[in-house]
Amino acid sequence: MKPAPFAYTRAKTLKEAVTLLAKHKDNARLLAGGQSLIATLNMRLSAPDLLIDINGIKNLNGIAKKGKHVEIGTLARHTQVERSDVIAKHAPLIALAMPHIGHPAIRNRGTFGGSIAFADPAAELPACLLALGGEIDIEGPSGKRKVKVDAFFKGLFETALRPQEMITAVRVPAADKATRVGFAELARRHGDYAIVGLAASARADGKGHLADVRLAYFGVGDTPFRAKKAEVALAGGDVDAAVKALDLDPHDDVQATAKTKKHLASVLLRRVAKQLMEPQG
Ligand SMILES: Cc1cc2nc3c(=O)[nH]c(=O)nc-3n(C[C@H](O)[C@H](O)[C@H](O)COP(=O)(O)OP(=O)(O)OC[C@H]3O[C@@H](n4cnc5c(N)ncnc54)[C@H](O)[C@@H]3O)c2cc1C
Repeated sequence: MKPAPFAYTRAKTLKEAVTLLAKHKDNARLLAGGQSLIATLNMRLSAPDLLIDINGIKNLNGIAKKGKHVEIGTLARHTQVERSDVIAKHAPLIALAMPHIGHPAIRNRGTFGGSIAFADPAAELPACLLALGGEIDIEGPSGKRKVKVDAFFKGLFETALRPQEMITAVRVPAADKATRVGFAELARRHGDYAIVGLAASARADGKGHLADVRLAYFGVGDTPFRAKKAEVALAGGDVDAAVKALDLDPHDDVQATAKTKKHLASVLLRRVAKQLMEPQG
């Protein structure tokens, strides 16, 4: 299929993009990497009057450690994140997840902020952000605001972003010596969206146990989902109890039944628990 006709403009500044969004209300869409947007246009799931290309806006693709956080500009391409020394050293969970996102051609164009804004429930990066307790920088007609990840993903492809706002950057706590991370997903073929995936972070408490465990599943519901009862059990060191406490309620989808997804989720929990419990350097 071909998309419905639309006008195209290239914003040169953040202010210009946000002003255009406000002027065209719900009839405009931002174009970042285009790896999800163009597919939705081609399938006529979306038919905006105007595409606002944000790729020409300067200073939106930086990746840097700032104090105790790592900041990733919205236009950082997946490939750039995948190859970043800052990410490898200070955000190892994101480094583990990157090779699972699509294929190199998709990662060359797709952007970090685009993935977070699109909020596909089977996508890796929203779950990583949830596991790390990150926050999202947003700019709109009334200025800047920050939203904590726990309040950002609202429903199926639905976020706390208002129609006239855009993401400018995402921030996650920088890893330190006590940080433990784990990641695993099951997909039909490498590069496909996951049937079920799990991104996790925790802190080694120095006494052989884990603290601040965050288990963020993807592919099991309308949004990335924290299995909070399992987090408590895993912090107590009991993997069997954590598996038993898994409070997931997935739906059947085109990839698998709910029953299969629940089984796969428990398999992933065992794999990721092992990663979290091993010393990481
Ligand atoms: C074949 C294929 C396989 C893929 N496999 C995977 C996969 O396994 N895992 C995965 O996670 N992803 C996968 N993707 C999607 C890919 O990661 C996309 O790059 C990503 O989801 C969207 O990023 P984008 O920059 O391309 O955004 P776009 O497609 O340009 O935009 C997506 C949506 O986000 C909005 N948007 C973009 N930037 C902003 C912003 N700064 N502020 C507010 N709204 C914004 C757009 O308006 C649009 O609604 C796949 C894509 C394809 C085509």
